Amino acid sequence: MPTEINPNSLESICASLAYALGIEPPAHAAAPSPELVAYIDEAFGGKKADRLVMYNPDAVAHWLYEKYPGLFAEAVSHADVQLPLHCMMPSVTPVNFGTMYTGAAPAVHGIQKYAKPVIRIDTFFDALLRAGKKPVILAVPTCSMGMIFREREMDYVLCKTWDEVNAKAAKILVEDQYDVVIIYNGNYDSRMHKTGPESIESLGELRHNVRAFAMFSEMVKELWGHHNTFMGFAMDHGCHEIDGGAGAHGLDMSEDINILHMYKAYPATEV
Ligand SMILES: [Zn+2]
Repeated sequence: MPTEINPNSLESICASLAYALGIEPPAHAAAPSPELVAYIDEAFGGKKADRLVMYNPDAVAHWLYEKYPGLFAEAVSHADVQLPLHCMMPSVTPVNFGTMYTGAAPAVHGIQKYAKPVIRIDTFFDALLRAGKKPVILAVPTCSMGMIFREREMDYVLCKTWDEVNAKAAKILVEDQYDVVIIYNGNYDSRMHKTGPESIESLGELRHNVRAFAMFSEMVKELWGHHNTFMGFAMDHGCHEIDGGAGAHGLDMSEDINILHMYKAYPATEV
């Protein structure tokens, strides 16, 4: 199990996604990940992606992958790049999705604690809209991803349940009306807080996330042969066990800070 903090930062993801799509990153984004940039260039043969699908599970820690690699099998088999990263402090959801989709540190994007205000600095979504791209976020209305990127001229599909989120995401992939599809899922996080990171309920939700990512990946292969699609399995932060069989995160410790993103390019197979 990793006890050191992963050297590479979550701040590098936003500009990497912009690079994949061939658009200017938002104003405060850190430099992209050299590993992702090299992979994108090679996988698309120097071309750019015209579609991006991000599956964002909440609180899936790097140490879970180290301890239970078999539970991640379908994510691994649908990824070419495994990218160890450290998240931002405090290691909570709005702080880190704020960083993932601005490329900026919490002091710059403005969310520095567990609070869900609308982010006012330039975000990935503003950059997408400037470039003429059509993004959509799928989430539940009260979660961080359902709140902090609102008030942009884009679509938000806010659902009552995670199954509804996944069903609507599947419909969106079939209809192919959006360039960028962001699918947030908080099921592992909420189970983990109540029953601990390694309870059968939590690990069941972890499997649900892995299989959902695999299913959306298969949908992209099946439906989007005419697109260059870049896909990510990208969590916000990790978690740790606390007394009373419960779970938590937010601390400056490797269990909470270290995450493992996975990415794959699907170059067009149809002319
Ligand atoms: Zn979270």
